[in-house]
Amino acid sequence: MRDTHEAQAITRRVWIRTSTMFAGGLALAHGWPWLRASAEAWAPSDLALQSAAPPEDAAARMRAQIAKSPIATLALGSNLTMLSGPGGNIVVLHGKDGKIVVDTFVQTVWPQLKNALDGMGPGPLRTVIDTHWHFDHSDSNANFREAGAEVVAHDNTRTRMSQTHDLLGMHFEPSPPAALPTRTFAATDTLQANGESVELGYIPPAHTDTDIYVRYAGGNVLHLGDVFFNGMYPFIDATTGGSINGMIAGADKGLDLSDNQTKVVPGHGPLGDKAALTRYRDMLVTVRDRVQRLKTSGRSLDEVVAQKPTADLDATWGKGSTRPENFVTLVYNLL
Ligand SMILES: [Zn+2]
Repeated sequence: MRDTHEAQAITRRVWIRTSTMFAGGLALAHGWPWLRASAEAWAPSDLALQSAAPPEDAAARMRAQIAKSPIATLALGSNLTMLSGPGGNIVVLHGKDGKIVVDTFVQTVWPQLKNALDGMGPGPLRTVIDTHWHFDHSDSNANFREAGAEVVAHDNTRTRMSQTHDLLGMHFEPSPPAALPTRTFAATDTLQANGESVELGYIPPAHTDTDIYVRYAGGNVLHLGDVFFNGMYPFIDATTGGSINGMIAGADKGLDLSDNQTKVVPGHGPLGDKAALTRYRDMLVTVRDRVQRLKTSGRSLDEVVAQKPTADLDATWGKGSTRPENFVTLVYNLL
């Protein structure tokens, strides 16, 4: 009897494992570009996730891969510094009032990030702001809170971080309470420090439904999070409200907030400006219109991808994290 129970238990476990792998295989075959695009969107390298990897391991491996990138530093002004490398681009406002940090990299590089922040002067870690819920932008929230900082984000970021997510082959459990934002807003928020006014505003669903911009009025710097991938096709997270038309509207909002001197910080890619954001916005519109025409004329996804509707754009935009065929697939599925 006991043996039978054990056999049934083992059979059930094997069945569950097999089902999970089958689902993963389906995702790879049909939900492609999810697995591949995710790996590349979050790590600008030729990382490829193995389809059979358990989703929890996939997320851990992604963290480890992203953590290999060194932290690069770029001054944006006398008290504003951009850090890039192991996750989305970070902007730090520093000075005697303390530090206000936008985004967090992945948790595995917290010691290096803390070192870099400590090197900017003795002011306390006052605030960290999450541009959206994705882990490569919010992963070290708990570390910041432990260091005494408040965590500011949109209402939806707190909601999304409290949920379970299966995204691009990776599995995310709800964040523990200690990692959640401590101060959230629906439309706008403003912080004052070091003679700077830091304005936060909601961007209606674009890359996700949690996106915000952060604008430094004095320094004329605008952080757009992952609404802006500078110089490359973006990743769009349809599982939490992202859409191609939302991305275009978000880019337009960024343009409205910029002048010709504004330093525009993307979620991924090098520091940009209004001209770079304009080129990116125009590319999004071009691809959207081309794919829309083909889809409206009745072409299947496979036919549209095979037709390579972005061929003339790929030399400029297709060398980044999201490959041309992945981007066309995203756009097709989101129209
Ligand atoms: Zn993102």
